[in-house]
Amino acid sequence: MKNTAICAGSFDPPTLGHFNIIERGLKIFDTIIVGLGINLAKQPILTVAERLDLLKQILKNHKNVEVVSFDGLLTAFARAKNCRILLRGIRNMSDYEYESQMALANKALYPELETVFMMTEGQYSHLSSTFIREIIASGGSCAGMIHPLVEKMLVRKLRK
Ligand code: ADP
Repeated sequence: MKNTAICAGSFDPPTLGHFNIIERGLKIFDTIIVGLGINLAKQPILTVAERLDLLKQILKNHKNVEVVSFDGLLTAFARAKNCRILLRGIRNMSDYEYESQMALANKALYPELETVFMMTEGQYSHLSSTFIREIIASGGSCAGMIHPLVEKMLVRKLRK
């Protein structure tokens, strides 16, 4: 049986921290499904189509990565994909607190589901989509934090 893991997030925008988790995850799992969760409660900067496009372009050389969006519960998405593993990145203690609660909630909804946590690599531990949006909106450079395609699209959207 092939091991498939779902790496889900809002990716608004995707950072090098996200790609680092996906690429390291590929050393453990045969296939990774990158699931872009559509959260109707959040007002995103990048549209779903823009985020999907960026993720697909940046990950295009990885044949065993599938990029797809989903709405509703992550557990329902995992069931629909017949997937029993969630891969989550952890940066610090506050990620751990949030993620551990989420893992327990997801397990209650889908008992066969296992959440696997991967520590971020040091150079990415300060990266968050929120900081990236603020830096770009304020005129700063995010070189070394996001892919150049992501920076180009963010600059276009945030500095009108
Ligand atoms: P969400 O809105 O679900 O928090 P994100 O796109 O912010 O979605 O994050 C998706 C996943 O990526 C989460 O597991 C999160 O902990 C992880 N992640 C976010 N930023 C980093 C980073 N810099 N290094 C490692 N993992 C990260």
